[in-house]
Amino acid sequence: MKTRITELFGIEHPIVQGGMQWVGRAELVGAVANAGGLGFITALTQPTPGDLSKEIARTREMTDKPFGVNLTILPTLRPVPYQEYAQAIVDSGVKIVETAGRSPEPFMPLFKAAGIKVIHKCTSVRHSVKAETLGCDAVSVDGFECAGHPGEDDIPGLILLPCAADKLSIPFIASGGFGDARGLVAALALGADGINMGSRFMATKEAPIHDNVKQAMVEADEMNTQLTNRALRNTSRVFKNEISDKILEIEREKGADLKIEDLAEYLSGQRGKIVFEEGRVDHGIWSAGMVVGLINDVPSCAELISRIVTEAEEIIAQRLAGLTGRSSAAA
Ligand code: NAD
Repeated sequence: MKTRITELFGIEHPIVQGGMQWVGRAELVGAVANAGGLGFITALTQPTPGDLSKEIARTREMTDKPFGVNLTILPTLRPVPYQEYAQAIVDSGVKIVETAGRSPEPFMPLFKAAGIKVIHKCTSVRHSVKAETLGCDAVSVDGFECAGHPGEDDIPGLILLPCAADKLSIPFIASGGFGDARGLVAALALGADGINMGSRFMATKEAPIHDNVKQAMVEADEMNTQLTNRALRNTSRVFKNEISDKILEIEREKGADLKIEDLAEYLSGQRGKIVFEEGRVDHGIWSAGMVVGLINDVPSCAELISRIVTEAEEIIAQRLAGLTGRSSAAA
């Protein structure tokens, strides 16, 4: 399947594994790259810019295919030296960056001077259009179904993606709620050039997280996520567990008086890190999308990508072509 995204990034399949805090490490990114997709190392998962450089080098030992680095700029409990992380990316020679969370404008001169292709992840049409005017090479348009930060507009992919398609000239990938071939075909039909998957890649053999987390995702259905942090206008979709219930209870109690300090102990990414490392799935919040309702197994990245592409081709050639009376057999 060739699309503007496969051409732009020099990859085999229009399937992207976007940044995921604590998950986007060399093992996963290398496996996605070797399977013909595009994986992103998550910069802030590494404690320092120097560690990010080492992680990039480690990924290069695992694959000679293209991969990128995600740089997410959102409120954090501790200050992050974003400029130093950005410089580490440039110095490492990586040529693809996924920005997210806030406008990539301050980093564009640095990235563009280094010949880096920038794909900006956004949750609204207006931010997608802005990214195009800033010189981004592509955007990742992230619907309300997504894991992590869906923004505050609550527009699902079925509306957001065709609205974005109507306004954008640059290629874009559909993000939020994608996990199988049906999603890929739907995304292409809605005008996208490929899909981004996060949660689906967490439940793969190579994802460097505890099996308990993968198993929890397999057992979950589409009702198993919750939105935290709404009142602070930094909404986050997470897997429903004891801590997300606790956060929502505090949010209800405090109402309009809610402050980050009321939630910090429970929200902290350090707790999420322990979830992934030790498999204590109720120890902290961890991002997961509504797509957990479509995750029923833990394949390798190669199995997953090949299954999605093969089944997508079947859906197009058989079911869809059949509906128009032009089945592949007739053709
Ligand atoms: P952290 O421990 O600093 O913060 C935990 C959560 O609280 C994050 O969602 C953060 O955005 C939020 N937060 C922190 N300070 C806030 C404030 N003043 N007001 C409102 N919300 C606040 O972060 P972390 O878990 O170590 O993650 C590091 C970075 O990765 C952050 O930018 C975080 O938002 C991002 N992240 C993204 C995703 C995703 O799915 N897109 C998932 C997890 C983390």
